[in-house]
Amino acid sequence: MAPDVRSDLDAIPAYVPGASAPGAVKLASNETTAGPLPSVAAAITDAASAANRYPDITSRTLVERLADFLGVGAENVTAGCGSVALCQQLVQAVCAPGDEVIFGWRSFEAYPIIARIAHAVPVSIPNRADGSLDLDAVAEAVTDRTRLIFVCTPNNPTGPAVDRTELVAFLDRIPERVTVALDEAYYEYVRSDDPVDGVAEAMARPNVVSLRTFSKAYGLAGLRVGYLVGPVDLVVPVAKMVVPFSVSSLAQSAAIACLEAGDELRARTDAVVAERSRVRDALLDMGHAVPDTQANFVWLPLAGAASDFDAHCRDHRVVTRCFAGDGVRVTIGDPDENDRFLAAAREFVTGM
Ligand code: PMP
Repeated sequence: MAPDVRSDLDAIPAYVPGASAPGAVKLASNETTAGPLPSVAAAITDAASAANRYPDITSRTLVERLADFLGVGAENVTAGCGSVALCQQLVQAVCAPGDEVIFGWRSFEAYPIIARIAHAVPVSIPNRADGSLDLDAVAEAVTDRTRLIFVCTPNNPTGPAVDRTELVAFLDRIPERVTVALDEAYYEYVRSDDPVDGVAEAMARPNVVSLRTFSKAYGLAGLRVGYLVGPVDLVVPVAKMVVPFSVSSLAQSAAIACLEAGDELRARTDAVVAERSRVRDALLDMGHAVPDTQANFVWLPLAGAASDFDAHCRDHRVVTRCFAGDGVRVTIGDPDENDRFLAAAREFVTGM
């Protein structure tokens, strides 16, 4: 007889990572094409020589550097094993079984998974037709059981960012007993006229936190380190949910080195932003209704043609991320990679 396990396991979907294929261009996981900066690679190598020791359990130096970098108190910051781990810690910190976690949909695939893992109830609110979050509908969905709302801005996988004006109006409507998590995994790529600074919002309200990561613009996806900023009354419970020692010493050292390399990384995000416009414009010219994107990817709302488009790209040695029946998300790579993708996309249009 098999041991007893949770009876609701079948209701918990598996997280599906972006695929890769040998020799193909990988534009499936919103990573950076360029490897770590030389100064960051050197910090990782240095840290490796002390890998026999456990890391600092609270990532104290990293937290202090982040606090200086962001202009907040160290007590307002906690680091985690990627921001997805912090999303999970947050759900565990605020939700009792049966409590509701609201998010727009489609959005980051992990939200419904981590809600269910914590025995909470995921509540997904359809996005607007242009792929933006429908914050009015999200606010209207709040019930007595709602404990947490994820606002993913820019939204993965569709691309639009929430304007600050719209966010403030939304936050004003949400009762303070409900925590709002601004998931800003792509914050460094935002170039909008009315940008959200989640850290500023989190420091101004008792129920708002910002989640950011070193996986995307900072290029450390393989090392797993992110951070949460917010009021102490939320930071302390979230930190309590951490798996001990889950931020490795290599990750802590690399993240600190990234913070010291500010200008070089800004040049990298600027290059991605320029390529993002070029790729989006080319796709619009091909007739794809690509939403505005403030992240390092574009969304093609292909509906029933999504799987065919994804397979066609793979035949052309370009791996994209397919959400069957809905759309395809394509990471902005370097100019050559983007050209290879656009060439494949052009053929798909003409081949139809
Ligand atoms: N939030 C969003 C919106 C994301 O797209 C991702 C990564 N796909 C994450 C959080 C998690 O990133 P990480 O755990 O690598 O920091």
